[in-house]
Amino acid sequence: MEFDLIQKYFMRPSKNHKVILGNGDDCALIHTDKVLAVSADTLVEGTHFLENKITPADLGYRALAVNLSDLAAMGAKPVAFLLSLTLPKINELWLAEFSKGLLSWNIDLIGGNTTQGPLTINITIIGELPSGKALKRGAAKINDHIYVTGILGLAPVRPTPRVEFSQSLLDLAHAAIDISDGLTQDLTHILTASHLGAELELSKIPGTDFNRGEDYELCFTAPPCNEEKIRKLAEQTLTPLAKIGKVISKPGIWDKAGYAITVQGYQHFS
Ligand code: ADP
Ligand code: MG
Repeated sequence: MEFDLIQKYFMRPSKNHKVILGNGDDCALIHTDKVLAVSADTLVEGTHFLENKITPADLGYRALAVNLSDLAAMGAKPVAFLLSLTLPKINELWLAEFSKGLLSWNIDLIGGNTTQGPLTINITIIGELPSGKALKRGAAKINDHIYVTGILGLAPVRPTPRVEFSQSLLDLAHAAIDISDGLTQDLTHILTASHLGAELELSKIPGTDFNRGEDYELCFTAPPCNEEKIRKLAEQTLTPLAKIGKVISKPGIWDKAGYAITVQGYQHFS
C-alpha cells in the first residue's frame, strides 16, 4: 500500500511517552524498564469472521480487543501494537471505518506491514509487567478459588477485555487465562499447566452456554484469603465477577457431587 494511505489511516502521533519512535521508519522504538509481555493473534476472513456479517469498524475494534484480552490474561498493561494487514484490494471507505474502530482503543499503533491477499488481520501487541509478576497458567494452587468475569456464552462482537481489573489482580491472584475457546477448555489449560483439577458449582457459572467461546472474559484462581479484596476490586472497576469453584488435587473438572464435567469448546482445526 502506498505510504500516504498508511499515513492517512494508520499513523497517529504517539500518546505513550515510552514510544520514542512510532511507525514510519524501519522499526519503532520503545523505552521501558519493565518486563515486556508480547502476544500475537490473527483474524482470517471465512475462519474467524465473515466480511458481510461484521462492519469494518467492529472488525477493527475486535481485532485489538482479542489481543488486549491476552495481555489482560497475564495482568499486563498495554504499551503499543503492530498491525499486519492483508487486503484483497484498496477500499478507502473500508480502511477509514476499520482504522476508526481499531484506533478507538487509544493505544499506539507503532508499526506493521500491508500486503495484498485474502483479508487477514494480524496484530502483535506489547504490554509491560512489573518485574517478577505475571498471571501465568501454571501458577494455580490447591484450594484456590476459581473466578470468572462477565457473562459467558454471549460471544459479543465487541468484547470487553478486562485490562484494568487484571493489572490489579497481579497482587491478588495466582493463575489466569482469557476465555476464547470456552470455559472448560480454557480452564483445563490452567489445570494442566498447574498439574491440578477443579471442582465447579455449575449453578454459579454466569450465563447459559459457557462452552461456546469468544467470551474474552477472564478465568482466574486466587487464594481464599484475597476474596474480599478481589470483590472490592471488581466493584471498583465495574467488572461482573462470579466465584465458580475451587482448585483441587484430583486432575479433571468435577461437580460438587463428584461427577466429571465434560471438557468442550472451540476446535481450531476440525
Ligand atoms: P519497510 O519496507 O521498511 O518494512 P513498509 O514500507 O512496509 O516498511 O512500511 C512503512 C512504514 O509504515 C513502517 O514504519 C511500517 O511499520 C508502517 N506500516 C506499514 N503498514 C502498516 C500498517 N498496516 N499499520 C501500521 N503501520 C504500518
Ligand atoms: Mg525498511
